[in-house]
Amino acid sequence: MPLFGPPNIAALEAKRDTQGLIKALSYKDAVIRIAAADALAPLRDPLAVEPLVALLRDDNPGVRRAAVSALSARGGFRVVEPLVASLADVDPDVRMTASTAVYRRLMTDPDQDARRATSVALGKIRDPNAVEPLIKAVMDADEGVRLAAIRALQSIGDIRAVMPLVVVQAHEQVRQRATGRSSLAVERAASSALDVLCGPASVDALESGIGHEDADVREIIVRRLSKIGVPEVARPLEAVLSDRDPVIRRSAARGLSDIGWQPTSSEKGAQYWAALREWRRCAECGPAAIPILVAAFDAADAPARTDIVAGLATLDWEPEAPDTLAAGIWAARGQWDKVVGAGEAAIGPLSLAVKEAPHWRDRAAAAKALAGLGQQPDAPFENVELTSQALALFESPAENEAAAADRKAALDAFAAEQGLLKPEDGESLELCECGYPISRVNSAGERSPLTALLGREIDGSTTHYFCPACDTIRPA
Ligand SMILES: [Zn+2]
Repeated sequence: MPLFGPPNIAALEAKRDTQGLIKALSYKDAVIRIAAADALAPLRDPLAVEPLVALLRDDNPGVRRAAVSALSARGGFRVVEPLVASLADVDPDVRMTASTAVYRRLMTDPDQDARRATSVALGKIRDPNAVEPLIKAVMDADEGVRLAAIRALQSIGDIRAVMPLVVVQAHEQVRQRATGRSSLAVERAASSALDVLCGPASVDALESGIGHEDADVREIIVRRLSKIGVPEVARPLEAVLSDRDPVIRRSAARGLSDIGWQPTSSEKGAQYWAALREWRRCAECGPAAIPILVAAFDAADAPARTDIVAGLATLDWEPEAPDTLAAGIWAARGQWDKVVGAGEAAIGPLSLAVKEAPHWRDRAAAAKALAGLGQQPDAPFENVELTSQALALFESPAENEAAAADRKAALDAFAAEQGLLKPEDGESLELCECGYPISRVNSAGERSPLTALLGREIDGSTTHYFCPACDTIRPA
């Protein structure tokens, strides 16, 4: 070997002479420096890192590029900072090589410390080209890498990161529910990043995920859209009013309410009120509400069922099968014969009507219908049978004075027959303003209520009585 000639790279490489190759890195001839860096690349010797890093400041772009390639081949935590710095090299070829090194090599480095450090470094330089590789890293197996990638995306502020971050946050929520273990830090970081990224400019990005199969994802999207609160969120939120998840439908409706949204069609209006479980308002939207109300009935609780039935009863809809819903509709419409015709299915709606029908006469009718089905209703009457009979007499038409007098006579006779009144002792009936008998007055002018003919509500130790014909409260 000539003593002062250039180093023989091929020979050094063949001997795997790292020391010799490292020494050749500082040889004056750039071609040799490049060849030495290329030869060192596959050897991945830790001692070569420092000298190769020093070459990143070499005057010759070819040398810098070779150094980037060699460091990239080595990978690992120590090469992260220098390679990320080379992304800003003045030479386009060096920059391109550094891009591949950082985004392809380091972001998938087997060493999680390298992946994490790369993510952190990319967050600092805020390079838009880093967005895609960082998005991949938000699902990294290592929590530290996920956190660093999320924070880097937050700092870069690119809208492309919105949906991946939503998915990450949802993923942690699902994991929490499924295993009881999740990374609260990752979830919080994703949420904070979304706080920064989700402005009016992110509406389209969020809308793109509105059909995502994961309900947690859809829910986060709806919350975010609602929070943005600009008019542009109306379209995606409207679309969610028919989501298969009731919680999401409700969030969407609230979001729409917050922006002062007005329904664009009666169907959307019906979906909106249904989402808020305002069933009567839903019915006010007209026939478009019918399928929504019918579909909601089975899963609804008792108070909601009452409202759904009341809403449907106001719409021109006739049930096809005599099921519970049908019985409820017929009860709400006072079609008691039809209700009883529904048999078993009528028991639930009738039991409800006995206690909650708005008019006392309907409560009495429901109680009678239940008795007709062999049930013993716990009706809010002292004597539902007598009350029903009195109501039947009272409701016979009395268009003129003569008929009214006949009706009064019939009620007197009925009360006497039932032992509620003793005309022979000078007792007489006192009538409600509506004409229904409510009290008995004796010869001394003392009155006592005809409780057997009244509706009653027991409130602790107090009992309130109601005229079942006009629903007014009568003093006991
Ligand atoms: Zn009355």
